[in-house]
Amino acid sequence: MARYIFITGGVVSSLGKGLASAAIGALLQARGYKVRLRKLDPYLNVDPGTMSPYQHGEVYVTDDGAETDLDLGHYERFTGVPASRGDNVTTGQIYRDILAKERRGDYLGGTVQVIPHVTDAIKNFIQTDVDDVDFVLCEIGGTVGDIEGLPYFEAIRQLSNDLSRQQSIFVHLTLLPYIPAAGEMKTKPTQHSVKELRSIGIQPDILLCRCDRPIPEGEKRKIALFCNVPESAVIEARDVDNIYAVPHSYHAEGLDVEVLAAFGMQDAPPPDLSVWDEVMTAVREPEGEVTIAVVGKYTELKEAYKSLIESLQHGGIANNVAVNIEWLDAQVFEREDAASYLEKVNGILVPGGFGERGAEGKIAAANFARTRDVPYFGICFGMQMAVLEAARNMAGIRDATSSEFGLTGTNLVGLMTEWASGEVMERRRQDGDLGGTMRLGAFEAYLKEGSRVEEIYGTRVISERHRHRYEVNMDYREMLEGQGLVFSGVSPDGVLPEIVEIPAHPWYIGVQFHPELKSRPFAPHPLFASFVEAALAQSRLV
Ligand code: GLN
Repeated sequence: MARYIFITGGVVSSLGKGLASAAIGALLQARGYKVRLRKLDPYLNVDPGTMSPYQHGEVYVTDDGAETDLDLGHYERFTGVPASRGDNVTTGQIYRDILAKERRGDYLGGTVQVIPHVTDAIKNFIQTDVDDVDFVLCEIGGTVGDIEGLPYFEAIRQLSNDLSRQQSIFVHLTLLPYIPAAGEMKTKPTQHSVKELRSIGIQPDILLCRCDRPIPEGEKRKIALFCNVPESAVIEARDVDNIYAVPHSYHAEGLDVEVLAAFGMQDAPPPDLSVWDEVMTAVREPEGEVTIAVVGKYTELKEAYKSLIESLQHGGIANNVAVNIEWLDAQVFEREDAASYLEKVNGILVPGGFGERGAEGKIAAANFARTRDVPYFGICFGMQMAVLEAARNMAGIRDATSSEFGLTGTNLVGLMTEWASGEVMERRRQDGDLGGTMRLGAFEAYLKEGSRVEEIYGTRVISERHRHRYEVNMDYREMLEGQGLVFSGVSPDGVLPEIVEIPAHPWYIGVQFHPELKSRPFAPHPLFASFVEAALAQSRLV
């Protein structure tokens, strides 16, 4: 029988509900329980796939090809449990399904309403496919009091009533601001937030209080009294220097004990936090450092590169070094010489991206890396730009370009019109829908015998997650290989390029997939571990 933990947020957004949920999941896992984490997003988009990274940050892609909220990345990184399509839902998806049923006539003439139809759909989503887990953690996006969140709060209120006693609990994340002029930590916003929750019928069991300093005992007592929870359930969630310190700090505050107590599970086994100890030691006591330039488009918005930042840190953990990231806007290289910006870095990474803006700058960065023997890691768009650079400057195809930028030259990169997805052939047209129509999710790739990637992965068959609409044109494979850019990974049918590398270079690899989606702090992705290792070797040369 699965138990449910509903995680809601109050006072302000951006308190780190996703991280808090992930850390609670990790703590329960450390006690031997099986967990599943889910995110319910109250916005109307069907998924975040069509949203600008400025609006929504990174789009996290699951193995089964869902474009989901970036919090699912936290869940996976903290628990190692692969997320799937059934772990993220939006109001847009729920309404789309209900309206399709209504058009089919499934409601047999009934009036279709938020209660019960929308709330039932939410309850169904939460309870689907949970037979093999001990705890289902459901995070509700947004903040209590948001109009669009109301059906979700109503649904979890009803669900907790439908379930047996002690089968579900509510954890509410709030903020305790410190007001310097008064020299005091303020509890009023938390009191109001809980009042709001209680007005819609939800009494939180645990309050997770974000703060930047210790909560005085008197304030804890006050919160407990006004919010109707035991004092031990007022948990301090103080800022920490590194996100991977969160499970430890929650445990130190007694959160996991309190969660289990709320379920009446007083004699649960103690947690084994040794993986987190190792991660923390590697993060806090590095034996060196490297600097990696990330040449991208959304460099002012780090949320757009969440998994990438984490994966670079994991690469550092694997090598016991700190990884400093130098964020560079690709467009700068379209006006100025790349050398002055890139001379001091130990590695260059061009991440995924869309559209023409900044593309020439990324090609310039790839050129610098290739000609100056600096380790280069091209991810998705970054691989495509490395191919354009090689085509132009190694193979002499001066007008090499991508059809993503219009039909202006020789298309070394073009729209992918069909590909095999299991047994079925996926087909796309130039004028098709934008949402959910990319090549999405995990696909296998075969690695070339004796290639560097075979050595790095230690295997010849890999599975990695994809999110792209364009592909490198295999017609140019022979020509590029003749110049030294080897196609060292291809799809099982040999039709799609997956990896290119330059064997004569210290480390020059481009991948069509997103390895950053599968890296974990306790299991760094081999490509990131190897890239950081190459950057470290480069740092010793200069
Ligand atoms: N825009 C490119 C494509 O659609 C690359 C996508 C990406 O980097 N995720 O193929």
